[in-house]
Amino acid sequence: MRVGFGFDVHRLVQGRKLILGGVEIPYEYGLLGHSDADVATHALIDALLGAAGLGDIGEHFPDTDERYRDVSSLELLKETMQLLKKEGLVPLNADLTIVCERPKLKPYKDQMRQRLAQALGLSPFQVNIKAKTTEGLGFTGRQEGIATYAVVLLDHAA
Ligand code: MG
Repeated sequence: MRVGFGFDVHRLVQGRKLILGGVEIPYEYGLLGHSDADVATHALIDALLGAAGLGDIGEHFPDTDERYRDVSSLELLKETMQLLKKEGLVPLNADLTIVCERPKLKPYKDQMRQRLAQALGLSPFQVNIKAKTTEGLGFTGRQEGIATYAVVLLDHAA
């Protein structure tokens, strides 16, 4: 089995949609980025690539590539799953911690689990989403951005 870790940060700005874990969340600010800037899915992708020994998200989906402008990060996650499949690797579970002062993410966690699990070929039970604040401290506390940490476990396909 192989473990992988991922981390990502995106800046919160006006005039962008807020997409986290493949779910659009109504909010006055959204995340800035070349794709849909889904910071949770990006951290998950990096965890998967890390566990597979396949580098990082920037190598596979560069932000200079017009194909990835405003793309749904769930599509990038699905492409990542194809890379893993070629290596004969399958995920066993994923665990994400989204660091976000506002908005409150509790109402959206189950939907994120379902979206991510579907893209990973897992049941929602195998994907866990945790939402944390930093008690007002740091850039997440000042609501300048949202961060996510993710770990996954991979196994060789049967
Ligand atoms: Mg990112």
